Amino acid sequence: MPIPKKAVALTVAVLLTGAAGMSHAQEARNVIVFLGDAGGIPTLNAGGILANDKPQSLFIHSMPYIALSDTSSANQWVTDSGAGMTAIMTGHKTNNSMVSAIPSGPNGAVTPVKTLLEYAEQRGLSTGVMTNMKIWDATPAATYAHVAARKDKDSIFQQMLKPRFGNGVDILIGKGRADAAASFAGRQTTAEKAFADAGYRYGEDPSIVREAGRAAVLRDADFAPIPAVEATIAQLARNPKGYFLMVEWDMHTDDPKKGLRHVKEMDDMIRRVHEIAGKDTLILFTADHSFGLRMGGGKRGAPLAEQYDAEAAKPGVTTASNSVISVEDGHTGEEVLVAATGPGADKVHGFMPNTRLFDILLSAFGWKRDQ
Ligand SMILES: [Zn+2]
Repeated sequence: MPIPKKAVALTVAVLLTGAAGMSHAQEARNVIVFLGDAGGIPTLNAGGILANDKPQSLFIHSMPYIALSDTSSANQWVTDSGAGMTAIMTGHKTNNSMVSAIPSGPNGAVTPVKTLLEYAEQRGLSTGVMTNMKIWDATPAATYAHVAARKDKDSIFQQMLKPRFGNGVDILIGKGRADAAASFAGRQTTAEKAFADAGYRYGEDPSIVREAGRAAVLRDADFAPIPAVEATIAQLARNPKGYFLMVEWDMHTDDPKKGLRHVKEMDDMIRRVHEIAGKDTLILFTADHSFGLRMGGGKRGAPLAEQYDAEAAKPGVTTASNSVISVEDGHTGEEVLVAATGPGADKVHGFMPNTRLFDILLSAFGWKRDQ
């Protein structure tokens, strides 16, 4: 008996739904977090318009899943980078200036809390941390170190080379070369020797990442972001188990044009990484906190940058009083954007605490919290 056409159509529909359902639940092999430090929504908005003279013109604006994340810390409504990044990397809110550690008693005692990077190291994945700030600064440190006070750079450098899980961060790129030299000199060694003993190729030029499975690039000058992130991903992707990469780009706008230029730099980097990372990679952008930048004016039809400069050149106009883009120099407490694409990105929606990002990233890998 011939099968009625309607039944065939129904069977095909069921099969298609089934297949779509399976791919929906697919796990990520790789997770990349792009952290715009102080990159709140006002900064993304102004940075995008300044770069392109069009609204919603960033690659970030094309990412399919978005949410708004609360950034308050355990003891303050306005977080610093330490507590902000701790929440994202460990799923625990903590006090300002603590780094992947939570208060555990009187007199400032703390307990370390395991980071997503440590989960990845424990499971044999490759890991990377890249930043245009100092490598020991609170945001990158929250991926690999545990300290009660973010300024404790000696402990942060020690922990960088004495990881609790796996063999520690495989690719490190950031600033703070002079700080590393001073810190290791204080322990009667050199940064060169300490990093070499820990299995790293140590240098100043990000291109050394191309030649070494484990590399630490510390420098004191800026570097071109796209070649550095391409080289990092090329190395990390050699591990068939996958990788976790955190890229921080400073978007503080105390110097407004510099901060807003960094928005464009990071956005270009995310666009490029999306092209090369593969469909089994979850890419997530967020900020640790917002900042006191406001776009208060500007006409369509003329470059915003010129209008900003013209205002800034007027006598008596300051960064705080510029009528085109003004900045009150400080962190602010409103929610920040989360934008994601790739396996697990569909969990990014609605209003959420910043700690939920940890669970979203962990479950994208198919892992469960063990504390
Ligand atoms: Zn920050």
